[in-house]
Amino acid sequence: MLPSNVRDDFPLLARTVRNGKPLVYLDSGATAQKPRVVLDAEREFNERHNGAVARGAHLLAEEATGLFEDARAVVADFVGADAGEIVWSQNATSALNIVAAAIGNATAGVGGAEGARFRIGPGDEICVTEAEHHANLVPWQQLAVRTGATLRWIPVDDEGRLDLDHLDTVVTERTKVLAFTHVSNITGVISPVSTLVERAKAVGALTVLDGCQSVPHLPVDVKQLDVDFMAFSGHKMLGPTGIGALYGRNDLLDALPPATFGGGAVKTVTMEDTSWQEAPMRHEPGTQPVAQAVGMAAAAHYLAQIGMDQVEEHERALAAVLREGVSQIPGVRLLGPVGDADSRDVIAIAAVSVDGVHPHDVGQVLDDRGIAARVGHHCGQPLHRRFGVTGSTRASAHVYTTVEEAQAFVDVLATVPEFFGVRA
Ligand code: PLP
Repeated sequence: MLPSNVRDDFPLLARTVRNGKPLVYLDSGATAQKPRVVLDAEREFNERHNGAVARGAHLLAEEATGLFEDARAVVADFVGADAGEIVWSQNATSALNIVAAAIGNATAGVGGAEGARFRIGPGDEICVTEAEHHANLVPWQQLAVRTGATLRWIPVDDEGRLDLDHLDTVVTERTKVLAFTHVSNITGVISPVSTLVERAKAVGALTVLDGCQSVPHLPVDVKQLDVDFMAFSGHKMLGPTGIGALYGRNDLLDALPPATFGGGAVKTVTMEDTSWQEAPMRHEPGTQPVAQAVGMAAAAHYLAQIGMDQVEEHERALAAVLREGVSQIPGVRLLGPVGDADSRDVIAIAAVSVDGVHPHDVGQVLDDRGIAARVGHHCGQPLHRRFGVTGSTRASAHVYTTVEEAQAFVDVLATVPEFFGVRA
């Protein structure tokens, strides 16, 4: 059980929308609301401790550096990593791009002999899945273009689950990288991580996990999952925007050359050449989003105090209400598994397609009732294409979402076909 007063921690949830209606915020999969402790942590940093990290000899620089590194340790601990295995990034997208661009740089010769283990080229393969957010597809697709490697993907079945019948033919000795989402941002399906990691290890491929939709909603331990890299965003786990993190195994982060270059990431610079710091610094050129890192740590601390087991249990209950509810509405199609709403491999996300009604129109009917949902392709065009639709309307939850709110989504959705006169 969650503490009963959780919602009081989120100032924004008290506001009303559209002529005084209570806000029903069901767009946490896109960006979550922030508890007061996160807002306070950022403001406190800026009001009292702001200074340049790892660059000054004065007290503020010392305090800022301490808070920045403490934040790294808290976020690392939240996902079961060591502090040195967390690289700050702008968001999950940039974390995934760091890995892909760094492999591209290694292939071009950056990082010399120690970077050579990451080189890929013609004849090699990079593998993703059909369920990826564009953030974990486009960087790999473009890396393939840059290096001459081939992009392959594991297809999904009609319910949006990875079709593992294809695993051994898609992931082979030629595979150098297997990048996949932990949880789909469209179907809410949790990937069978251990099966995928086992196959990747058997063929010697690196694994890159997109933890954007898992870290905020489920207990996640990178050592248990045994992945090589994992990306996640602050703003989806109740933290600030402008900050995300890349987990990387120590030995890998130390050998991987930087993706981008500049000050703070280097040891020695001459006019001709540069040597890099150890990880994580070598992957963090330039001034970092320090207050945001402190805010992300406050969010991790807040979630850890509630307990991720409790968060998961709460969201399972919401998943059941959402998924069972919408799958019973005539003319409304739930994208993803139907009929086993509380099954263990789906989180509280429900993306629906209403026959004959554009997702934007569905979103407007919901918005008119104070319900904020996401409309469009949710940066997952290939998966929508697989389902034979161009877009959908998505409800997604977090700790502050109530069963009544999930039910409100279902109830308003049930009025949509008739509202547009499309009921059979
Ligand atoms: N991966 C998944 C599964 C997502 O849901 C998202 C955002 O919706 C991203 C990656 C990208 O996250 P960000 O925009 O924070 O970089």
